[in-house]
Amino acid sequence: MKELPNDLKSHIRRVILKRAIPCAILLAACGALLFFLGERIFNMENVQMRILCYIVVMLIPFAVTGLPMKLIDRTYCGEVLDARVKRTVDNESYVKPTLEHMYFKNTVYLDIRLDNGKEITVKAYEGRDDDLNPYFYHKGDRVFHLYGSRYTIVLPPDTANAVRCPVCGIKNLKENGKCADCGHTLVTK
Ligand SMILES: [Zn+2]
Repeated sequence: MKELPNDLKSHIRRVILKRAIPCAILLAACGALLFFLGERIFNMENVQMRILCYIVVMLIPFAVTGLPMKLIDRTYCGEVLDARVKRTVDNESYVKPTLEHMYFKNTVYLDIRLDNGKEITVKAYEGRDDDLNPYFYHKGDRVFHLYGSRYTIVLPPDTANAVRCPVCGIKNLKENGKCADCGHTLVTK
């Protein structure tokens, strides 16, 4: 694909804002806390130690919102060189995992050759074993992922008439051009 349609570009902007705003609010809150109460909370002689405490407090918003990790995502399009499925056991409860909370999780890693020739490895899918068949990526498939989306979609060959929406993952008819569910432009090539 040459260039992203405008509605997908603005979708990416919205996703980034949605992720950055909570972090900005927390940063402002921590900044205000330090400004007004910093000296009282970190009432210590050692100035270097106090600066260190300030820095740690200001890093909390990034740790809580996970913003740096979330910004690492990117839009890509390319050909699948290899697909690997890793099956692990996970649980729904972080507090007290019991047998009922445990389930098999599939994680799919793809080696992809991008259109510019660069090769990357990405985590294309993660979900319950019964959720969705993770073995749907094959060598030679052309795949597309939009920044911030949960989905890495397989672009259909010319003979196929269905394609998943890059934003919500719903299957659509290629000729419709727009997703029937969320209205975003379908990426087909
Ligand atoms: Zn959609």
